Amino acid sequence: MPCASAADSSPITDSLIVRALLGALGAGVVAAFARRAGMLTRGGQWAAFATGIVATAAGWDWAALLVAYFVVSVLLTRAGWEAKRAAVREVLPMQGERNATQVAANGGLFALLVFVGDLRGEPLLLVAGLGAIAAAAADTWATEVGLLWGGEPRSIATALTVRRGESGGVTLAGLGASAAAALGFAAASHVLIPVRSGAGGATMMAVALGALGGSLADSVLGATLQSNRWCDNCRMWTERRVHTCKYRTRHARGVRWMTNDTVNFLATVIGALVSLTVLGWLT
Ligand SMILES: [Zn+2]
Repeated sequence: MPCASAADSSPITDSLIVRALLGALGAGVVAAFARRAGMLTRGGQWAAFATGIVATAAGWDWAALLVAYFVVSVLLTRAGWEAKRAAVREVLPMQGERNATQVAANGGLFALLVFVGDLRGEPLLLVAGLGAIAAAAADTWATEVGLLWGGEPRSIATALTVRRGESGGVTLAGLGASAAAALGFAAASHVLIPVRSGAGGATMMAVALGALGGSLADSVLGATLQSNRWCDNCRMWTERRVHTCKYRTRHARGVRWMTNDTVNFLATVIGALVSLTVLGWLT
């Protein structure tokens, strides 16, 4: 029986391996291009490569969604870059290149959930994955659009005005961008999730509320638990370890290990959980 092993492997596994190999090729090209264009650090390139392979193994449409998220995020980050950097340079260590932690924090949970969801044929995991990436998009887009057109932000916790770039600050323009992300990913879910009888509307609502819930949670965590530093020289809050005045800043608020990347990752977890909860209520 020379062909027994070939006959044993299911077409699902075969197509998954083929997609993973082609995904490695595509993700390698996209990540290398993004690195050359100054969008990713070397570590960020590897993280994007790995995320791309996992998402493509899950399905071509998931890979397309990930690329769309990445391209829109990069375009919004680049828009008005110099003006944004000048406005927030005292508050944020603002770099144009995304590193490995940032890539993993935003796209890691999504890739994992849709991969396992596709492998096990479990639509709930696919909805959770969409909720995770939609939350990441809603947060990223709100930050960039808010910095561009939002004017003076207010803290989501105290409603007092805060400096531009300070975590936990929200603007109307930023909330509008979150809503746009929620609608966009809800529409995508209509195309991407195999609709069980009558569940299409519930899925869209679940993903939209996951996006909004995740990005709002990001702001709340940013205003409360996120580690924030203080410059004794300028008497100013900042996320920089070394301030623009060259003084070393000190940890002065929040949980020490709760960095901006940790909060971004938690926002995707909350996006996934909100989506699952809403879907549970509606179906
Ligand atoms: Zn200072």
